[in-house]
Amino acid sequence: MAAKPPLTLYLAAPRGFCAGVDRAIKMVEMALEKFGAPVYVRHEIVHNRFVVDGLRDKGAVFVEDLDDCPDDRPVIFSAHGSPKSVIEAARTRDMFAVDAVCPLVTKVHMEIIRLHRQGFEIVLIGHKGHVEVLGTMGQLPPGAVSLIETVEDVAGLAPADPGKLAYVTQTTLSVDDTAEVIAALKARFPAILGPGKEDICYATTNRQASVKAIAPKIDALVVIGAENSSNSKRLVEVGAKAGCDYAVLVPRAADIDWAKFDGVASVGITAGASAPEVLVTEVVDAFRARFDVTVETVETVVENVEFKAPRILREPA
Ligand code: SF4
Repeated sequence: MAAKPPLTLYLAAPRGFCAGVDRAIKMVEMALEKFGAPVYVRHEIVHNRFVVDGLRDKGAVFVEDLDDCPDDRPVIFSAHGSPKSVIEAARTRDMFAVDAVCPLVTKVHMEIIRLHRQGFEIVLIGHKGHVEVLGTMGQLPPGAVSLIETVEDVAGLAPADPGKLAYVTQTTLSVDDTAEVIAALKARFPAILGPGKEDICYATTNRQASVKAIAPKIDALVVIGAENSSNSKRLVEVGAKAGCDYAVLVPRAADIDWAKFDGVASVGITAGASAPEVLVTEVVDAFRARFDVTVETVETVVENVEFKAPRILREPA
């Protein structure tokens, strides 16, 4: 048998689950334990098929519309946040509803509600159609928030009073691209108000920084994450921008196009905030099956953030 070619795998750290995702998954598990199956979940609790399938096997039922949940079973709202109308609809129906929204998304919700009360028009920097954006825009009446995605979109803004304008951002954006959009906003509207501390969350920021740290060492980057995971897609972009010739998003090891790794000597591996470590292990093992692998972990920061589940789920039934 031919000897396997040598390959160094650089594991970015931190990677994978963030505190918001960890809490949201635990909340579904705790609800299943406390109330039994089925527990309804509006929208994928986090953007990862492996996680969602695992919870479905335990008795979670995922729906997109609250109308598909019966009144007499618990319902959990996703980590990305939900429009106010959905939370109110559950209240009107007297459902047992628990919101698994990440506290860092709630912080943005609170911010725009406060700014709106103070008479500000709000610009949200985010991706059109992303669930978090729908949830954030849904905190205020239609028309109160203008969504922009790029530097070019800044030119299209037409606020009634440029002196009463504020911006917030989606939590999972590219740190560098967002800085450019903010700079364009400030150039056009010098009085625009921004968040005291930026809205891009610690997990997104740290995972992007760790990719930048390994980028000079690697020929290719594998980001483990789902197609609909914003922070995972941003990691691919960050890797490509930092000079990786081949940066790719893969949900599972089975999705890897091995032909792309012919002749490659070093590969970086990271995982989006909703991808569990077991999938990283799976990918590393798949590389081991084909290469003589040396693993090096490159840790840029140690994370110790933890969010507690609400008391209603922690208390015994
Ligand atoms: S990626 Fe950030 S905002 Fe989203 S759930 Fe994780 S910690 Fe919260």
